[in-house]
Amino acid sequence: PEVISRISAGEVLEGPTDCVKELIENSLDANASRVKVEIVKGGKRYISVLDDGTGIHPEDLPLVIRNHTTSKIASFEDIFKIPYYGFRGEALHSIASVSRLVIRSKHYTQEVCYELKAEGGRVCYVRPSACSAGTQVEVYDLFYNLPVRRKFLRKEDTERKKIVELIKVYAMARPDVSFELISDGKRVLFLPRANSYRERLEELFGERFEERLVEDQYIRVRSLISVEPSKAQVYFFVNSRPVYNRELLEFIRGRAGKAKVVIFLEVPPYLVDTNVHPKKREVKFYKEGIIKELISEAFERKHTSVLA
Ligand code: ADP
Ligand code: MG
Repeated sequence: PEVISRISAGEVLEGPTDCVKELIENSLDANASRVKVEIVKGGKRYISVLDDGTGIHPEDLPLVIRNHTTSKIASFEDIFKIPYYGFRGEALHSIASVSRLVIRSKHYTQEVCYELKAEGGRVCYVRPSACSAGTQVEVYDLFYNLPVRRKFLRKEDTERKKIVELIKVYAMARPDVSFELISDGKRVLFLPRANSYRERLEELFGERFEERLVEDQYIRVRSLISVEPSKAQVYFFVNSRPVYNRELLEFIRGRAGKAKVVIFLEVPPYLVDTNVHPKKREVKFYKEGIIKELISEAFERKHTSVLA
């Protein structure tokens, strides 16, 4: 069973970036208002994600690294119905089975913080520890027990860049959360809590953005477009998740010109088909025509409801 866990972990996690992504999503699911990521050697040697969220109850601590014990919901199709990023209860299990893992957490109902250490998925101990409210997950030597995988990890530098980009993307989706990244002891990213999407994006890119809101009864398109000519870049979110949909991305690119464009789409879950591999972030839409119309409007209309 351990070997199977390791192999399937290799399928869930490509490398440090996937690991950081899962840990950030867990922090956001735990209602964190602050997420601090630390990596050493592009995350190959060390990854830490620290948050000020609800924490993990000491009784749950050994359970969270077990497979599928924590799924919040029953079916994959449901993921867009709930505000949670996590839904399979698979990430920590996978990470734990291919690393040396330390979780330190103080649940908001508890006085004491507890620490769990696991190696290759086996719990070494759970004991009281010192920490502040929230959770810290530390991942040492990812794939240390899966040498073939470890050997084929991307270069440190490539991985570091991917992690920076990943954090930026989540920071776009959640301006109400502060994000920080320390890489090899140096602070490379610090984004304090922002009051709006626009404020967060302006901080992130150092450019001015105009925000527009176009909606019909069911669908809402929030678009942020850089004001000055800029390196063209498109970011696309559905219900706060960074997603990939080739056709819509092309469609948006076709209208973006020389601008940075960030589109937040809010749609009822029944219009989104998530029946694609979750890791690839692919989604399909029913009524794509209407979604396209609304996106077009966001580009065309000069005086839609502009938010402050
Ligand atoms: P999932 O997110 O799909 O439920 P994970 O393996 O990512 O599965 O996490 C397992 C469980 O561990 C979560 O459901 C949550 O209860 C708990 N957990 C993980 N990380 C945190 C965190 N940072 N703060 C609070 N609880 C956490
Ligand atoms: Mg999760």
